[in-house]
Amino acid sequence: TLSNSLKDAMKKLAGKTVIDRAAVDELVRDLQRALLSSDVNVKLVMQLSQSIKSRALDEDLPPGMNVREHVLRIVYQELVKLVGKEAEFSLRPQKILMAGLQGSGKTTTTGKLCRYFQRKGLKVGAIGADNFRPGAYAQLETLCKKINVPCYGDPQEKDAVKITRDGLAALKDVEVVIVDTAGRHALEDDLIEEITQINDLLKPDHRWLVIDAALGQAARDQAKRFHEAIGIDGVIVTKMDGTAKGGGAMSAVSETESGIVFIGNGETIEDLERFDANGFISRLLGMGDLKALVEKAEEAIKPEDVDVNAMLRGKFTLNDMYKQLEAVQKMGPLKQVLSMLPLGGMNVPSEALDGTADRMKKFRIIMDSMTPQELDDPSLINTSRMTRVAKGSGATVDEVRELIKYYKMMQKTLKGFRGNRMAMNKMMKQM
Ligand code: GDP
Ligand code: MG
Repeated sequence: TLSNSLKDAMKKLAGKTVIDRAAVDELVRDLQRALLSSDVNVKLVMQLSQSIKSRALDEDLPPGMNVREHVLRIVYQELVKLVGKEAEFSLRPQKILMAGLQGSGKTTTTGKLCRYFQRKGLKVGAIGADNFRPGAYAQLETLCKKINVPCYGDPQEKDAVKITRDGLAALKDVEVVIVDTAGRHALEDDLIEEITQINDLLKPDHRWLVIDAALGQAARDQAKRFHEAIGIDGVIVTKMDGTAKGGGAMSAVSETESGIVFIGNGETIEDLERFDANGFISRLLGMGDLKALVEKAEEAIKPEDVDVNAMLRGKFTLNDMYKQLEAVQKMGPLKQVLSMLPLGGMNVPSEALDGTADRMKKFRIIMDSMTPQELDDPSLINTSRMTRVAKGSGATVDEVRELIKYYKMMQKTLKGFRGNRMAMNKMMKQM
């Protein structure tokens, strides 16, 4: 599935010791393969590849992020961009017109939407304006009966526009009216003509296009045609539970200049999910809530807190270490944060995370007994100085030693980070 191949690509990135140009190239190739085989449009895949490459190589590393996290964040943001923004709607009285080919899931989704608005406390009703497919009205009526929602239709009537008009009159006490329409087997002129007329009469607040996730590339033509006819302002992708090809339908949204409103992920009336691009991509990549992490990291680690540039030039003092620890502390329970970041977290030795708050208090007290020179250059601290610092701070010599050991560990981690940065610079020069 798309999710599996994306996860594999990200795992491969996580396993790399150095993230250089070659690693970014390889990642982009893996992403391309994954997206193309799930039927995302070639042009969109190429745009995404270009953006990821140039951003990964050109953008400055955000403070507090290593190269790996930086690349991960870009991949994530570009994928979110690919599936587009969520289409908005409000929970007010309104009319919604459903469009889409036969079998796409319009009637089922009309029932699901009735359920959705009903749960939000609105009075809902449906109109079955599909008189093309035999039994279409009965199918909608059955769904509506199940949830006790009024449903208007007339299987004998040949004129879908008349059904819509009569339905509006019959459902005048209803707050949200959803009109199910006919689909046909292929895009035909009389289908487009009919839905255009219904649209003119109904003057709906929303015109939502229902697309089967399994359609792949063909989804684009449909989206384009329906959009030209009635102006689609939201897309519902159905059957996301049953296919690896969802990419085509998802990216067809770009034809409509709208966004995805809902995702259908099952056959029951409850299987409808409000689309959320961030959550969707996070799940696709198998990474918990990445958006929360990215925001958290950005707000916790402000540039003024840590002089990253000085550290990258090779200067890393005890005070720097302390500030780093403080910044990390602000990110909240550390283990939780790291569990949200399976890739970046791997670099941090787990013993560095234990009892951090208590440890920091102790570190602060010990550091207060050091001279400015010692804080600036901890390599000055020999055994006799250690004894002096321990006495002055009421700590044991072992505790002072632990602080120095901790400092050295951080310094080593930072060296790896610096190595990546150098690889990064080298790679930029090659461009
Ligand atoms: P319409 O011709 O556009 O009205 O399509 P229908 O609503 O009749 O749906 C066609 C078939 O797709 C039916 O068998 C539905 O049960 C099925 N279906 C619709 N939405 C979903 C979905 O989200 N998941 C799955 N698995 N099946 C769906
Ligand atoms: Mg139908």
